Amino acid sequence: MSSAFLSPQISLPTGVLSHVAVRENLALAIPAVGAPTPQAPQVRGRLAGSDAVLGSVCVGLAGAVSSRLRSRAAQKSRVSTALTAIPALGVAAIAALPAVAGAVTGAMEGKGGRNHKSGSKPKVVVIGSGWGASTFMTSLSEEEAQMYDITLVSLRNHFLYTPLLPSACMGTVEYRSISTDIRRLIAGKGQFLEARADTIDTKNKIVRCSRAGNAHNKLGSSNRFPEGEVEGKIKFDVEYDILVYAVGAQTNDFGCPGVQEHAYFFKEVSDAMRTRTRITDAFEIAALPCTTPEQRDALLSFVIVGGGPTGVEVAADLADFVQGDAADLYPELVPYVNIRLVNVGNYLLATYNRDISEASLKVFEKKGVQVLNGYRVIEITEDRVKLKCAADGELEEYPYGCVVWAAGIKENALTSRLKESLVDKNTGVSSLNVSSLQAKDNGIITDEWLQVRGSSGSIFAVGDAATVRNDRTLPFAKILFEKADANHDEAIDMRELRDLLIASSDEYPQLEEYANYLASTVITTDDSADDVRLAGFARLFGDASQREFQAFKKVYELGNQRVGARTARKSAEQVASDIEGVDLNNDQKLDFEEFSELLKRVDANLRPFPPTAQVAAQQGKYLAHLFAAGELDGTFETLKSTSSSEGPFAYFHKGSLAYLGSNEAAFDLPVLGPVTGPLAGVAWKAYETISQISWNNRALVGLDWLRSEVFGRSTSRY
Ligand SMILES: Cc1cc2nc3c(=O)[nH]c(=O)nc-3n(C[C@H](O)[C@H](O)[C@H](O)COP(=O)(O)OP(=O)(O)OC[C@H]3O[C@@H](n4cnc5c(N)ncnc54)[C@H](O)[C@@H]3O)c2cc1C
Repeated sequence: MSSAFLSPQISLPTGVLSHVAVRENLALAIPAVGAPTPQAPQVRGRLAGSDAVLGSVCVGLAGAVSSRLRSRAAQKSRVSTALTAIPALGVAAIAALPAVAGAVTGAMEGKGGRNHKSGSKPKVVVIGSGWGASTFMTSLSEEEAQMYDITLVSLRNHFLYTPLLPSACMGTVEYRSISTDIRRLIAGKGQFLEARADTIDTKNKIVRCSRAGNAHNKLGSSNRFPEGEVEGKIKFDVEYDILVYAVGAQTNDFGCPGVQEHAYFFKEVSDAMRTRTRITDAFEIAALPCTTPEQRDALLSFVIVGGGPTGVEVAADLADFVQGDAADLYPELVPYVNIRLVNVGNYLLATYNRDISEASLKVFEKKGVQVLNGYRVIEITEDRVKLKCAADGELEEYPYGCVVWAAGIKENALTSRLKESLVDKNTGVSSLNVSSLQAKDNGIITDEWLQVRGSSGSIFAVGDAATVRNDRTLPFAKILFEKADANHDEAIDMRELRDLLIASSDEYPQLEEYANYLASTVITTDDSADDVRLAGFARLFGDASQREFQAFKKVYELGNQRVGARTARKSAEQVASDIEGVDLNNDQKLDFEEFSELLKRVDANLRPFPPTAQVAAQQGKYLAHLFAAGELDGTFETLKSTSSSEGPFAYFHKGSLAYLGSNEAAFDLPVLGPVTGPLAGVAWKAYETISQISWNNRALVGLDWLRSEVFGRSTSRY
């Protein structure tokens, strides 16, 4: 290690450091050729283009591994359940073939040098090692990365495949199977510094970092990243020309008293480990002869807060553990176990198709998980969780052995500080930047090229830390109005509006619901008849026929699959009332003022991208594409020229999935709709296996499924 690390408050000579660190990386590196790109939990057609020879090798290998394990498994009574993991491993091996083919092709192509267009290497600092940052790094080829001098700073020296964290918590898969060394992932592309970014000085383009010098004391406890001034803290600065900001977000306690003190968060491996230890403790203490039945009830009462995918999966995995391993290991305790899933909304997995919410309820009912929809946690005391029912305001309270808090996220402290720094930088320069940076959005605001507002082309943000803005229609009202007004009468009728909205929905997804509505009302009329418009209006504002309503519903539901991620869902009545409401003089035409008012309502319906791995990974990949052009150097001019040749970031929602327990899962696929049941469970396992970031992880996760099915989960703790 460079001695520079040990002295406080020094500015690292990044050029020199990068040279040293890159050599270290090469020494450590697995061949970086074909370094795998992390696959967010998205559904992709990955079988296309697989190579026959590689296919047979892979299937053969997977077959050999699984048949060896199967023969061992035959000695165990669980062989039938083990077989469910084998197809997953097999499908995973086949489906991952394109990655192997890519790696081999990459190896054969070799590498060549490529220079940055400016002639010198801009210094790029990437903060974070999660989905956004890791996908950014792995999507850049080695030769593209070497056009820049890249330093990655993160609290974590590994990438974590978060969707399997609930399974890892209950011991179904191992923590190491779902994490990957970041140094391996970025080998040959940049250097890694394990540290906390404390502040960002946007005027001088410096990231101020720190970590503890005496992280591991003799007792083994460590806090590598202490806040405030503590003895032995190492501080250093890293300069940048371009900053890639990918720090994610933090758990939101919504100000609920007692959450910080008594609940277990669920974001990192350390959180899952703590939760697991607590659950094991609860079982072991409950098993002691001196424990009273009341104490046993309390200890084995588990409360999971949050009805989104994380809460649902934690509850599902915990219920699997109780019905499987706990039933074997603590049979006398199982009758005492109580799992409650508290959800503030009326539906579990509220952003998914309603059928999935209902399917998950049924699975939970079968498994004995009590779902408390419409309840808010109002306080957690040392031994009680207090809830309030939204419907009748009644208060309820339960004793608990462990409360897991997976209720949502909020921007982290560094993001708030970065906003302040940017406001400071822009004060007196741009009132637009200042006001939009101060907006209470979750995260730092970027434009559609992911450039942070007010950073003049020097900062890009991805993932949970960012809110992409700028795709509102209102600023383009004049252009859109002129485009729609086909007969130039300074007003647009419903057919003109319909045609405009249909034509512009691709560009502005928030228009799609309105376009669908008009398509299903105005389009069913005979456009050539004289009274078409009147008939169209009558239907639009009046009593739509049952047939049209059904047609509308179909189109509406289909459309919602695509726009659901970007807009708040609106009912047909709300869409109709928006259109009707702006037609102030009731002439069933919209003048410019009325049209602008309609766009304002449409824009208000726009939602930020969801905070998912899918979004973060697509953004990381998109950003790598911008960098690959080799023009960006942290100035506004190079951003402008890159963005004029590259389109803005576009998110494509590829579907959502969740594990429901008992080998059942739910997929919410665009167009196809919801798929649930045991087959979906096999597909889920296969999908989560092939989506791992490296071959090492794919193999480990595949084998973990098999191991836990055959031999059960381990309850040991150390
Ligand atoms: C248990 C769980 C299950 C999930 N399941 C799914 C799922 O099935 N599908 C899905 O799409 N999404 C899922 N998500 C959400 C998904 O993980 C996040 O949306 C995604 O991780 C966001 O990626 P990111 O790169 O923005 O941030 P993260 O992946 O959170 O990465 C942030 C990185 O920044 C680092 N960092 C933070 N602060 C600092 C600092 N001050 N200095 C240096 N480094 C810092 C962190 O150490 C980390 O490496 C799940 C999340 C959790 C917690």
